[in-house]
Amino acid sequence: MRETKPDDAFSAADALAFLATPPRAVAVPPPAPTPAREVAPPPPPPENAYAEADKASYRHLETAAYYRALDAARSAKPGERLAGMAGAVHKLADEVWANVRGDVEGAGKRPQIACAAGCAACCTQQVAIAPVEAAAIAQYVTRHFTDEEDAALVTRLRALDAETRGKTAIERAHLRQSCAFLVENRCSIYPVRPLRCRAVHSRDAGYCGWAAAHPDEAAAERKSREGAGPYVVAPAKIMDAALTGLARACRTLGLDAESVELTAAARIALAVPGLEEFFCSGEPVFAAAALPGTSIEVALDLPPMDKTGTT
Ligand code: SF4
Repeated sequence: MRETKPDDAFSAADALAFLATPPRAVAVPPPAPTPAREVAPPPPPPENAYAEADKASYRHLETAAYYRALDAARSAKPGERLAGMAGAVHKLADEVWANVRGDVEGAGKRPQIACAAGCAACCTQQVAIAPVEAAAIAQYVTRHFTDEEDAALVTRLRALDAETRGKTAIERAHLRQSCAFLVENRCSIYPVRPLRCRAVHSRDAGYCGWAAAHPDEAAAERKSREGAGPYVVAPAKIMDAALTGLARACRTLGLDAESVELTAAARIALAVPGLEEFFCSGEPVFAAAALPGTSIEVALDLPPMDKTGTT
């Protein structure tokens, strides 16, 4: 054990003085300066970076639509496969649009999307659909329409088909006839409406009304302008990519994927019993509804998104 001996030379007064003395500041040397490193700024993105990213994202969606459609074809019951393929792709495209819609509307640089229930200004146009979408419409009508509604629809389809069969898009627009599925200014097949119908979103309902009433002037105005005008690019591109994926899936299964006209195709789909069997056996079921010179993979003629990706 170590003995601690008091320090005789250190008196009580020394102790008080010691305690009263502020501690001496210990000089801490400043840290050695770090030599400044030359950090090069990141290179600016290439001119077309946004366009390339844009294109890549739509290719991913197209691929997803392709696999969703194939999955649906494999898992659906016989008789429901065609409708299942269309339904799976509709669902995917709606989900993607719902995910980006907030960004598009929140960009705040432009007016909000004007489309709302009760506005049907765009429902006088020719609509190109995938044949499997006609099957989905027929299935929906069979399940949800009453006999009276069904009979009234068939009458409207027959009358409109007689007027529109073989017409070009501009000739169809000149007729200014509403779609046969429009009832009290609402789409009666809204859950299964074609991808092309889902694609159209406008920021200016007044413009849509004017364009429907003046098809020639509207066509000239579309040609003369640089951008998409009041139309929103994102949903059009989403639905276009989904439609292309759906068409690819149809081709993989050996099914006809050429675009057909909505009125004639729906009329056929409702009239032909055992539609799926005929269609899958390669019968040209929808030949009478063909749109000569068009292809389902013709991309919409729309400008690329802006740099925020929210056009
Ligand atoms: S299917 Fe519906 S959304 Fe499409 S044009 Fe006809 S009424 Fe309008």
